[in-house]
Amino acid sequence: MDYIADLHIHSSYAMACARNITLRSLINTADHKGISIVGTGDFTHPKWISEMKNEIEEEREGIYALSKNSGKARFVLSAEVCTIFDKLNTVKKIHNCILAPNLEVVEQISSNLEKFGSLSSDGRPILNMSAAELVEILHGISKDILVFPAHAWTPHFGVFGAFSGFDHMADAFEDQAMHIHAFEMGLSSDALMNYRISENDKYTLLSNSDAHSLPKMGREANVFSFDKDPEYKDIVDAIVNKDRKKIKMNIGFYPEEGKYHNDGHRNCRVSMTPQESKIYNGRCPVCGGRITIGVLHRIDELADREYGYIPKGAVPYVHSMLLDELIAYIMEKTTTAKAVKELAERLVYRFGTEFDVMLNADINEVTKIDAEVAKAVENIREEKVNLIPGYDGVFGIVDIMGREREKMEKSRRGINQRTLFYK
Ligand SMILES: [Zn+2]
Ligand SMILES: [Zn+2]
Repeated sequence: MDYIADLHIHSSYAMACARNITLRSLINTADHKGISIVGTGDFTHPKWISEMKNEIEEEREGIYALSKNSGKARFVLSAEVCTIFDKLNTVKKIHNCILAPNLEVVEQISSNLEKFGSLSSDGRPILNMSAAELVEILHGISKDILVFPAHAWTPHFGVFGAFSGFDHMADAFEDQAMHIHAFEMGLSSDALMNYRISENDKYTLLSNSDAHSLPKMGREANVFSFDKDPEYKDIVDAIVNKDRKKIKMNIGFYPEEGKYHNDGHRNCRVSMTPQESKIYNGRCPVCGGRITIGVLHRIDELADREYGYIPKGAVPYVHSMLLDELIAYIMEKTTTAKAVKELAERLVYRFGTEFDVMLNADINEVTKIDAEVAKAVENIREEKVNLIPGYDGVFGIVDIMGREREKMEKSRRGINQRTLFYK
């Protein structure tokens, strides 16, 4: 059976996150979207952990359910921390995701990590320690803890990011690198981009939403396949062993849609390909300031293979889109518009979940509800879309029905406004 898992989300205790993220609303949203396994996020935060102790209980080893009216989706215990450290006279800032096998281990993690930074000030705490120290300490607490770099390519906090990252996993994690088995591709890269670097072949590529609000959950996810409802260790083993039978698929953004795909300077609305930014020596052609080097550029720099190479037995990567964003595009309204929500509800009612609509529903059946949505879903599935790449914190655009670029640029301003707050 398939299990769609989103292992990296945040609670309302993390900075710049929506206020309505509760354990219950996470489960309700996961059920609506078709996510079976969702990370709790933020388990280092004292208030969130106390909510967890009150509201969830272990159902299978390492898998937690809401104690009352449990819904369908289940939790794995997850967190993200930012490690800040000096290396070779530069400041390195790296976000890492942590999965833990049970609440007792979570408590031990917190009591160890609180020596390195304030755990109560942010659901994603800043820790004054190296990425290697983090792994060493966590591994000392329990061998069952899984650590993996979050959104590996983002310029400011990715392990491979242009501004504070490294060229190789081993440079970042030193003697602890052997305990790193996976990394998150992030919204601005997909599997094909990552395959360009042969060193990446030894890692499981993960795709998680890193959602800061409920609607963004599942915008990226991993599809696992298990004979029976998995325990924590089944999920971790599949990741650590790169088990192709158990990791069936990654679902995620068209990488151009990610907000750090291209190079650019947001204030001047300048977006450039890596080739273009090289011509300008990494400077903004409008203001002369430093441009933000995007993910495409970074991967280009480190690549030792041409684009298009697929390693043997690679896990398929399916580009998709959130249903409400697809409908909002069709209707030329915002995702929160009543008409958008109503149509999304009708589709989910008919086909089961949002993922069912996007991935599985019969297009003829969707046409009976809304012909334009059906065409849009078909275009997404067949990858017949135009893409306007994101840059320097500005989300890219998936032009599903081939509308004019000018019109899209207009709606893009709206999108920027909206996404300044919710990542
Ligand atoms: Zn992060
Ligand atoms: Zn500029």
